[in-house]
Amino acid sequence: MFSILRRNLKTGRVTVPVTAGPAGEHELVGAELKSKVARLLGGRSLHVREVDAGSCNGCELEITGLSTPTYDIERFGVHFVASPRHADVLLVTGPVTRQMALALAKTYEAAPEPRIVIASGDCAVDCGVFAGSYAVAGPVESFIPVDIKIKGCPPSPMTILRALLAACDRLPR
Ligand code: SF4
Repeated sequence: MFSILRRNLKTGRVTVPVTAGPAGEHELVGAELKSKVARLLGGRSLHVREVDAGSCNGCELEITGLSTPTYDIERFGVHFVASPRHADVLLVTGPVTRQMALALAKTYEAAPEPRIVIASGDCAVDCGVFAGSYAVAGPVESFIPVDIKIKGCPPSPMTILRALLAACDRLPR
């Protein structure tokens, strides 16, 4: 106990300052996103339901980054919702595990049209490091139609922001 305390006091702070990529990039993409959302959805927010189909939670950490003060995604008109019934976009992470395959299909069925699906991260796209695991049933597109695929382990908040911008282009005009 005391040795851990002593080591931590000796080590000091090891965190690094958070940056959002090249200066101002997230502001530019965010402004474009905000304008598209306002134009296409008549003033309401773009509603996103995040679905963890079997992720290691690394992808969720990056998605959570979008709600931190650095990105503050709600100011760009994007709102994470608790129910697929309110979702314009399903943001799916992880390889689809055997336990989650049915839940993912039901979540997709519960979402209203146009049901835009983003497969977020290497695992969602092709099972990534979990390919071949006895617990994994397959990539997201084996169970529901996928509109946008983003690679990365995990994809950065900036990459997810760009994917949401691309998702807007699939909204009915
Ligand atoms: S892509 Fe990487 S961070 Fe995301 S669920 Fe797979 S292993 Fe985890």
